[in-house]
Amino acid sequence: MIYVTDVSQYAFCPYSVYLRKIRRVRVVTPQMIFGDVYHRIEERIRERERIVFDYYIKEEMDIEEITDEFYRDAKKVIKNTVLRNKRRIEGDLLDTVKKLNRLFLIKSKEKALLLKKAMETYRKKDVYEIVFPKAVTEFSISSRRLNLCGRIDRLEEIGGRYYPVEIKTGTTERYMEKDILQLSGYAILLEEKFGASVDKGFIDYVLLSKKHEIEIREDLKDNFMEIKHEVEKILEGYVPQKEKKKECEFCNLYEVCWGE
Ligand code: SF4
Repeated sequence: MIYVTDVSQYAFCPYSVYLRKIRRVRVVTPQMIFGDVYHRIEERIRERERIVFDYYIKEEMDIEEITDEFYRDAKKVIKNTVLRNKRRIEGDLLDTVKKLNRLFLIKSKEKALLLKKAMETYRKKDVYEIVFPKAVTEFSISSRRLNLCGRIDRLEEIGGRYYPVEIKTGTTERYMEKDILQLSGYAILLEEKFGASVDKGFIDYVLLSKKHEIEIREDLKDNFMEIKHEVEKILEGYVPQKEKKKECEFCNLYEVCWGE
């Protein structure tokens, strides 16, 4: 079966799809491991946010005090998750903890702002819906008919409908087109599964503190299916050309392609 990420990878470089799918080349970079650890922390914090709200946050608290409560809990989760993954993390563990603490301090502040506003305006049961929307993480999805599968970082429910969210831990938006392609693939799979149109999604560049809402137009979905067809050709035996290009500079397969 073809993964949605095979299609977005093709947009980056067709030859990289050949290396991964046919030659079975596997490269795990520190950035990938960081991304995975980040996902685990985020998932755990999301599970606990409502508990923090119920037990520790009072209506009379100001934004700073609310931030402190969320951040205190986040720091515990970060420390435990980093320790559990210490064998996989390259480099100084303390630096990793500090980097994650900085990121989740920003997230705690954002959450506190949103919560304070919501508490001033809505009743408690509505606050849950607004500040802690139902979300499903690491959602695996596949379609035999489309010969397509993938794992969506997060599904967010808005107004009774689910939308895909891609979480990116890179430090650049340089390859946003590739990320939009990936989102389009997930929209196609979600439409197939739930029978309802998915016309938007989100890309959350967590290191840049930027979350973009992306309109997923029909032409983006068509483009995705066309590229998927090109990936199928590689699986059937077509070998794409290896070319030196600007993408090579940022590619984790550089050594495989151009090393001595
Ligand atoms: S190093 Fe260049 S040619 Fe090789 S897979 Fe990466 S982008 Fe493609």
